[in-house]
Amino acid sequence: MGGIDSTTLETLREALRGPVLAPADPGYDEARNIYNAMIDRRPAAFARCADVADVRTAISFAQDTGTELAVRGGGHSGPGLCLVDDGLVLDLSEMRWVRVDPEARTAQVGGGSLLGDLDHAAHTFGLAVPAGIMSTTGVGGLTLGGGHGYLTRKYGLTVDSLLSADVVLADGSFVTASEKDHPDLFWALRGGGGNFGVVTSFTFRLHPVDTVGVAVTVWPVDRTRDVLRWYREFLPAAPVDLYGFFAALVVPPGPPFPEPIHGRKMCGVVWCYTGDLEADRLEDVLSAVNEPAPPAFHFTSPMPYPALQTMFDGLIPEGLQWYWRGDFFDAFSDTAVDVIERYGQSIPTDLSTLHLYPVDGAAHRLGADDTAWAYRDAVWSGVFAGIDPDPANADVVRQWCVDCWTDLHPHSMGGSYVNFLGSQESPERVRTTYRGHYDRLAAVKHTYDPDNFFHANQNITPAAA
Ligand code: FAD
Repeated sequence: MGGIDSTTLETLREALRGPVLAPADPGYDEARNIYNAMIDRRPAAFARCADVADVRTAISFAQDTGTELAVRGGGHSGPGLCLVDDGLVLDLSEMRWVRVDPEARTAQVGGGSLLGDLDHAAHTFGLAVPAGIMSTTGVGGLTLGGGHGYLTRKYGLTVDSLLSADVVLADGSFVTASEKDHPDLFWALRGGGGNFGVVTSFTFRLHPVDTVGVAVTVWPVDRTRDVLRWYREFLPAAPVDLYGFFAALVVPPGPPFPEPIHGRKMCGVVWCYTGDLEADRLEDVLSAVNEPAPPAFHFTSPMPYPALQTMFDGLIPEGLQWYWRGDFFDAFSDTAVDVIERYGQSIPTDLSTLHLYPVDGAAHRLGADDTAWAYRDAVWSGVFAGIDPDPANADVVRQWCVDCWTDLHPHSMGGSYVNFLGSQESPERVRTTYRGHYDRLAAVKHTYDPDNFFHANQNITPAAA
């Protein structure tokens, strides 16, 4: 049981304001169920921290008892980095709160909040933070990795809107990191993952976003080559008000898609328009979708931003088998386009998919070394995700993903978005993720976590003293 026995467990229960869940406690198995059902780990206990004091207590407890520690934000990590066998999970899922200051246009967000919590709280003021595309993802892990989504071309990465972070460090001390205070730590937090401490709250700059124009366009899979050759030119040249991620997919069996195309392999783009919807007709903004090939379906609608953010929540709920890998791209050669068409044709299950998320536009405004995010020159962040509800298909989806990654990797920039690294990837991959920033990150790690206490993450080894 690692460093936890029945006596130390009781001490922890007494010290914590939030609940502690051990294997015999009701709720323990639910706590083990994270988003990716392929991950099956049995921690010795979950410390459901209620506040900063609980986080400090849990860290001291793990340090004093020599217990392995994992930190759980929203529980969305593909490789299940938020769970550790036989160790303690510092679980932030009770620290879901958001305080918006509409005058200052800032939001303070609890370390265990989900994107949906933030979208909900900010939307009532017509404001938003650029983040991911599903409301169920954790603000914590997403932000610390960089964070991209529908608002990235207009307002940058999630970390580009981060103003400060409250952090409990490995020695239990509490600091606020910002451009002014602990700037080295603040730099590292903006892309360096969960390596440096537990972020108990994030403070973000908010941006005006209210109703957005949403469109979904799909074309037959055998037109992927034409569509991608068009898309790779069209989107980077489009105004930053227009965002559209490319997908190879199997059309879901429900609205808004018409029945005749349900279950068919297609390629598509999901669009978000943040320009002036009074002045611009979305149909006109997107009239070019007819250029590569006649779409099999093209749907447009204005939507409150949180409605777009929840559009895919029901399609891919928690509890599915997931295996994903990713890479950054700055261009797609005709050969790379052909590889993508091939893997679109061979998608193994209805939910498996390949996405290319734009990371250009406003995300290119910051300098290459301004944050730990090491691929300011990337144009797309690609992810290849094998997904299925049936554990019997785990090997099939894993193999499709690995094959797809293997064939596309030579066409990539060499590294992946850290949040799209999968299980069983090498320390060398973490290095390529951080490119020329790795050594600087290792130096910051040495300053704030010299013994590598926080290592249940895509780990950065502390630099030698
Ligand atoms: P967790 O599994 O809880 O944590 C992941 C890592 O972050 C762990 O190492 C954990 O220790 C650390 N961590 C989490 N919170 C904290 C904290 N408060 N302090 C310190 N460390 C912490 N990413 C995008 O950028 N854009 C997207 O649109 C997007 N869409 C996604 C959709 C789905 C369905 C899924 C499954 C993932 C998506 N991702 C996206 C990837 C996502 O950013 C990562 O999976 C991320 O790790 C999720 O963070 P989490 O807090 O939910 O995960």
